[in-house]
Formats: sequence, structure tokens, C-alpha cells
Amino acid sequence: MVHTRLFLRLVRGRTVYECTICCDKKDAGADLVIQQPPTLECNHDREACDDCLKNMFEVAIQGGRLQDLICPDTECKRPIPKGRIKQLVSETCYKQ
Ligand SMILES: [Zn+2]
Ligand SMILES: [Zn+2]
Repeated sequence: MVHTRLFLRLVRGRTVYECTICCDKKDAGADLVIQQPPTLECNHDREACDDCLKNMFEVAIQGGRLQDLICPDTECKRPIPKGRIKQLVSETCYKQ
């Protein structure tokens, strides 16, 4: 439940999210950038960690599937801004 998670987050005063891809619990601490979902238009909590996003996007770029550069949230699927992709994937991969 998104609302419960938001509530708990406020109560605890810290940000821990569980990556839905690798199931790791990530403590974002006070870092607001790390807490953000992949796109500015996302209206959901952070759900995938940077490592998983990086893997996803690198595989998509290497496979020439640029249409797969989207938010991994199943109900969101918004396109990821180029700047964000550039931050995540390695430089050699981005240039392809
Ligand atoms: Zn992950
Ligand atoms: Zn999203």
C-alpha cells in the first residue's frame, strides 16, 4: 500500500525503499536525489534502485530497444529523460 508506506516514511523520518527488481532494501538517508523515482512526472515512490535501472537501461540501449527506456513501474511507464539515463548508464553505453 503506497499510502501506508508514505505514512511510515513520515513517521520514521527516514527513507527506506525496497527495490522491486532485486528486492534489496535501500536506505536513501537524507539524499533527495536518491529518493526520487526515475522521472519527474512519476507520481509514485521510488521502486527500483540505481543498479537495477542501470542494468535495465544498458541492456535496452545495447539491444537498440530505446522504447524500453521507461520507468519500470508497471502502472507508470513514463519515458526516462535523457539526462537521467546519462547519469545512470556508463558513458560508452550512452554514446551508442
Ligand atoms: Zn535493485
Ligand atoms: Zn514512474
